[in-house]
Amino acid sequence: MARTDMSESAEGRGWSEAAGRSSASAGNRQTASPACAPGSAGDPAGLARRVETVTSPDDPSPPGTGQPSLPHFDVHLVPPDIGPWLAGNTGVRGFTTRASGREGPHVGLIALTHGNELAGAIVLDRLLRAGLRPLRGRLTFGFANLAAFERFDPRQPTASRFVEEDLNRLWEAAVLDGPRRSCELDRAREMRGLVESFDVLLDLHSMLWSSDPLLLSGGSVRGRELAIAIGVPDLVVVDHGHVSGRRLIDYAPFVDPAGTAAANLVEAGQHWEAATVDLTLGCVGSLLRHLGMIESHPELPPPAPPAPPRLAEVTLAVTATTPGFAFVEPFRGGAVVAQQNTLIARDGATEIRTPHDDCLLVMPSLRPSRGHTAVRLARFVGPR
Ligand SMILES: [Zn+2]
Repeated sequence: MARTDMSESAEGRGWSEAAGRSSASAGNRQTASPACAPGSAGDPAGLARRVETVTSPDDPSPPGTGQPSLPHFDVHLVPPDIGPWLAGNTGVRGFTTRASGREGPHVGLIALTHGNELAGAIVLDRLLRAGLRPLRGRLTFGFANLAAFERFDPRQPTASRFVEEDLNRLWEAAVLDGPRRSCELDRAREMRGLVESFDVLLDLHSMLWSSDPLLLSGGSVRGRELAIAIGVPDLVVVDHGHVSGRRLIDYAPFVDPAGTAAANLVEAGQHWEAATVDLTLGCVGSLLRHLGMIESHPELPPPAPPAPPRLAEVTLAVTATTPGFAFVEPFRGGAVVAQQNTLIARDGATEIRTPHDDCLLVMPSLRPSRGHTAVRLARFVGPR
């Protein structure tokens, strides 16, 4: 069965693998790495005072694989100073709740589930600084993988996605209640009780490779209805979870048929582009308006003209099984291949062809490592 890992496998090649993962994620650990201990500042390495645009160094192509080199990734965003929000008021470091004092849902906005995805953190920092408070219910702002974020280095921006393992693959009771430990598992356990109190969760992400923004609804009807109601961005991708571990949006309270809570994940654009911040603001604004928690706010853009979102359902997750996996052209996420059976990639001797007409390419990873998802293929449902 194909793995449905959404990880961008070019990431994690840097610090995480070189220094952090060698022993940590391989087996049970009795103690978490001292490297996971909270740092003293929310401004990693004083970056806010340093350059605004940094070009990552070349990463040569793996020898003999035929894959393209990892390109330069320019970092146009400055990591926010989240120092004022580290203590929080919830008992969970990095999590702050603002309550209206009126009836209404408890909504969680989570940033930094991946430590190098800056746009969501910038948005939450802005909204907190602007004093945003909901008109009804409660709103919790959470910065998730603080330990990875503290390691963010614009010269190696792909290296701080996580410290020891992906925080977005741990959200099932058997894992959370199990004996294994890691930096990220410890953090997930800290966050768990608060996460379970959310009626609605929006997890703020971004992407390494150039791609149209999209909302991932997960497989539940509630998730799909929430994504359609948010409508920003206007592409909703319905998927059905991961063999490699459950994402936060796949955690039982959000997907159990008997439950009522709902969660979405927004992939708002490229990790380090200013437009990704704007899209994230639009998505958050649309969610909060939908729930009657704001009318307008100076930090949030006005409502977009209503347009029905395009809905697509994942039909196949393609996993690279050889180190030589390569697309026949540098596809952009959001591209639609018109004809069934079109060759899109080669994985060693295996040809990868589209399984149906009008095949949407979801987040192609142009340099996938073996065992990682190279692309997800999706079919549009209804008009687009
Ligand atoms: Zn992410």
